Amino acid sequence: SGVSCNDLEKLHVLGHGNGGTVYKVTHKRTSQVYALKVVHGDSDPLVRRQLFREMEILRRTDSPYIVQCYGIDEKPSGDIAIVMEYMDLGTLDSLCKKFGTFSEEKLAHVARQVLNGLGYLHAHKIIHRDIKPSNLLVNKNMEVKIADFGVSKIMCRTLDACNSYVGTCAYMSPERFDPDTYGGNYNGYAGDIWSLGLTLLELYLGHFPFLQPGQRPDWATLMCAICFGDPPSLPDGVSGEFRSFIQCCLQKESSKRWSASQLLSHPFVAKDVRSDLAKP
Ligand code: ADP
Ligand code: MG
Repeated sequence: SGVSCNDLEKLHVLGHGNGGTVYKVTHKRTSQVYALKVVHGDSDPLVRRQLFREMEILRRTDSPYIVQCYGIDEKPSGDIAIVMEYMDLGTLDSLCKKFGTFSEEKLAHVARQVLNGLGYLHAHKIIHRDIKPSNLLVNKNMEVKIADFGVSKIMCRTLDACNSYVGTCAYMSPERFDPDTYGGNYNGYAGDIWSLGLTLLELYLGHFPFLQPGQRPDWATLMCAICFGDPPSLPDGVSGEFRSFIQCCLQKESSKRWSASQLLSHPFVAKDVRSDLAKP
């Protein structure tokens, strides 16, 4: 159903990740541009089935804050291809590298849209589990949308500890490592809020908050910092609203963290300012 990958012509690679390769493609008849994500088949049929079911959930997700899916193909080789809406400004990660760290105004605009997306997912009992700058996509209308969900959760489980695993799991909340200490009244949704807080902090600082600029990620040190250290915070000179918003996201105890709908009424994001993300 939907757009089939046989109708598409590959233009070039947009990105690689844990799960596969994403191409910019055009439709042979309509010339419509899409993004095509190809996930290589796992030899374990159970994992592939789980992955496919998650793709079905993605295809049924319908929100302006979630990247739209137009079709899913499963090839005889076991590869799965997903046809998605093309987000022409790329990821928040690449925008930060291109135009520099984000102002509070930009971050409020990002935060509000991601919270709308998380609110939608959580209301539909979906936990993203991989919120980070490279999984948040932007288009030229300055719409920010959540991408890459479900997949990485499965991929993560099937991967041994390797660099890509560390990269993904750096955004994991304290209760995912240590549910006994930080997971009182555990609900997985709060983990996405932690990751959002880290993402906003990273875009403000220009480096991953638990590491010094240029410091190589070391899995054990990172996990200790997340579980035993104070949550990262903002430097002097930011507004009280921004500081408070980040504190609400980065509560180590998951039950004290605000939910997406609570955060949507926080003064930091309550003003509906639209900010151009594609300029310094
Ligand atoms: P993975 O599970 O492999 O990380 P992602 O869905 O995160 O897969 O895609 C990897 C990269 O491909 C992203 O970080 C981004 O650079 C690019 N990308 C993914 N989807 C799109 C899209 N819809 N439009 C534009 N670029 C995309
Ligand atoms: Mg990704």
